[in-house]
Amino acid sequence: MSLLPRSLQRVIESFERLPGVGPKTAQRLAFYLLHVPQEELDLFADSLTSLKKNTVLCTICKNVTESDPCAVCSDPSRVQSIICVVEQPTDVLSIEKTGKFKGVYHVLHGVIDPLNNIGPDEIYLADLLKRKQTAAEKVEELILAMNPNMEGEATAMYLQKQLTANGQQVKVTRLAHGLPVGADIEYADEVTLSRALEGRTTY
Ligand code: ZN
Repeated sequence: MSLLPRSLQRVIESFERLPGVGPKTAQRLAFYLLHVPQEELDLFADSLTSLKKNTVLCTICKNVTESDPCAVCSDPSRVQSIICVVEQPTDVLSIEKTGKFKGVYHVLHGVIDPLNNIGPDEIYLADLLKRKQTAAEKVEELILAMNPNMEGEATAMYLQKQLTANGQQVKVTRLAHGLPVGADIEYADEVTLSRALEGRTTY
């Protein structure tokens, strides 16, 4: 039997489902919210409710957007022939902050991770291959900007094989060194990420 009121318990359980939040933090956050004015809570609840309702995935790049195609894909000043492939929408934000990249993106929404039963079909990988085949403008370069860890490497290798299968001619590059092994792109500082972009190497 829990000593906590049911409504409090439900909020704690919701927080516990979030990545990086343990039971203690979940409890602290829930109790904190008890002291927040009702109007603010209503705003919070409202923003959660509309989070998925008002957003879609861009049909071209699979980034999260309110208008489809997204702002990057529909920007005529972006170079449509250079596609930077990233794991998550947050990686797009990090790379955009560098101001160094003028191409477009493709968001995979994950990586190949056999230990967690995530194969190529569970992420937006086939969409990228199809996009490359059917793009109005020929794709000149694909930058594989996966995180420098095992899953990221495995995904990049798989992609590289698929992208150059049957003698297909396309330049495939990886981000340069400077990104520490095991570090996430999301957390890289702008200078490191800019350097990694500039010094990218052909696969
Ligand atoms: Zn897009």
